Amino acid sequence: MSNRQPTTDVILIGAGVMSATLGTLLKELVPEWKITVFEKLASAGEESSNEWNNAGTGHAALCELNYTTEKPDGSVDISKAISINEQFQVSRQFWSYLADRKLISNPNDFIMPLPHMSFVQGEKNVSFLKKRFEALSNNPLFQGMEFSDDPNKLKEWIPLMLENRLSNEPIAATKIDSGTDVNFGALTRILFDHLTSQNVGIKYKHQVDDIKRNREGLWELKVRNIDSGSVERHTAKFVFIGGGGGSLPLLQKSGIPEGKNIGGFPVSGLFMVCTNPDIVEQHHAKVYGKAPVGAPPMSVPHLDTRFIDNKKSLLFGPFAGFSPKFLKTGSMFDLIGSVKPNNVMTMLAAGAKNMSLTKYLIQQVMLSKEKRMEELREFVPNAKSEDWDLLVAGQRVQVIKDTDAGGKGTLQFGTEVVSAADGSIAALLGASPGASTAVSVMLEVMKKCFPQHIKEWEAKIKEMIPSYGVSLAKNPELIDEIHTSTARALGLNRELQTVS
Ligand SMILES: Cc1cc2nc3c(=O)[nH]c(=O)nc-3n(C[C@H](O)[C@H](O)[C@H](O)COP(=O)(O)OP(=O)(O)OC[C@H]3O[C@@H](n4cnc5c(N)ncnc54)[C@H](O)[C@@H]3O)c2cc1C
Repeated sequence: MSNRQPTTDVILIGAGVMSATLGTLLKELVPEWKITVFEKLASAGEESSNEWNNAGTGHAALCELNYTTEKPDGSVDISKAISINEQFQVSRQFWSYLADRKLISNPNDFIMPLPHMSFVQGEKNVSFLKKRFEALSNNPLFQGMEFSDDPNKLKEWIPLMLENRLSNEPIAATKIDSGTDVNFGALTRILFDHLTSQNVGIKYKHQVDDIKRNREGLWELKVRNIDSGSVERHTAKFVFIGGGGGSLPLLQKSGIPEGKNIGGFPVSGLFMVCTNPDIVEQHHAKVYGKAPVGAPPMSVPHLDTRFIDNKKSLLFGPFAGFSPKFLKTGSMFDLIGSVKPNNVMTMLAAGAKNMSLTKYLIQQVMLSKEKRMEELREFVPNAKSEDWDLLVAGQRVQVIKDTDAGGKGTLQFGTEVVSAADGSIAALLGASPGASTAVSVMLEVMKKCFPQHIKEWEAKIKEMIPSYGVSLAKNPELIDEIHTSTARALGLNRELQTVS
């Protein structure tokens, strides 16, 4: 049975952090617009945005070594780090705006201050880290960063990682106290609670099976009620496909030319988690290392303190892996079903180019727990198997497309907004740096899809995000102001912390 529903202004597909952010931004800018959300699962923030499905790093390029590369002349390129840091400052400002207006009642329910550190071993890596530190610490966005190659200092910073470290290899670390741990699942739920109070219709257990343009030029969605099996037809002037890994198949169904020749490559993630309080108490940081040779950038190993449900735990990983599913709750046919006549050559070219990556991912899937423990012991030499459990995290679907630089079938590791020329539909693909940059990515969606409104919205956007349209790296006073005001609004001043 099919029943047709009245047209809404906006439909958001998926109740993850991206739809939550776009919905909240739009409700602040045009409260009168009617917004409907469809989510196939029973609640919000259950897929990649869930706190146990991602690492919860507020990515600001404070510790991730893959955001700074060594140039052929030996100097360190920090341009990507600056751009990612600026995007995180945009998120901080929007969350602060919501907290100041009590739309978020207790920001520490989703964000906590936590030092971000990079840790390396071996002479070459130590020299790279030092150069990276020198390049970053001259930039006001990274003020407060410290470097040390003194084992005694490192013992103070990361006692758990130094205990029983027998190797004589040189080691070094950088530390910056302005890092954060973000519970993106909690943030998503907070934003959806707020949207519900603003009369946004959120339909859980409703799966979008098809998207087509109708004769009036509106988007018509075929939506299946998972409990009853009944099918509804919903129309909207604008559709955002925020289905996470599930976005690519929906984009393909829309038939827009911008969605052609694009493929997806799923990479799964596994973490090891420790909840033993005696061990958890010995570590208080997110410590990022260097990715092993041949590993994709998203599998940089890190040892993180996490704050989830007012409890601290330690997370180590991620171990990458291969699964043909596009969502953790997806189907084994997702990958094969995404191969279409328009992207088959792109997919085949990517397959041929990335044999070694596929091999690496399959090897990673096959690792025994003890093998994973050996990798963990590079970080925590004393780690005991009985203290650590395996945790299956979310799926990331990396974009594959033809690019001028990389040629046919190039694997992309960033996020990508794909939108129709008339701005009536947009999809978000890819997953890195991910949830941390949700606000700037959703602003990009708005710029692409609502160019006719952006001018009139600008004053309100600037009220919510004072650095909107301004390069922070070139405005050190604004950085100071934003660091101070967002730390206060989000409860990130260390002395305010009460969590045990
Ligand atoms: C292992 C791992 C570690 C990560 N670590 C970090 C990190 O440390 N920091 C960071 O910032 N980011 C991190 N990320 C990335 C981050 O989790 C994602 O970028 C972000 O959560 C994506 O949000 P989303 O809303 O796009 O997707 P999701 O949270 O996956 O939400 C999509 C929703 O759409 C629903 N859906 C899909 N298809 C349909 C359909 N047809 N009909 C209805 N509903 C549908 C799904 O059920 C889901 O609820 C990590 C990701 C992974 C996998």
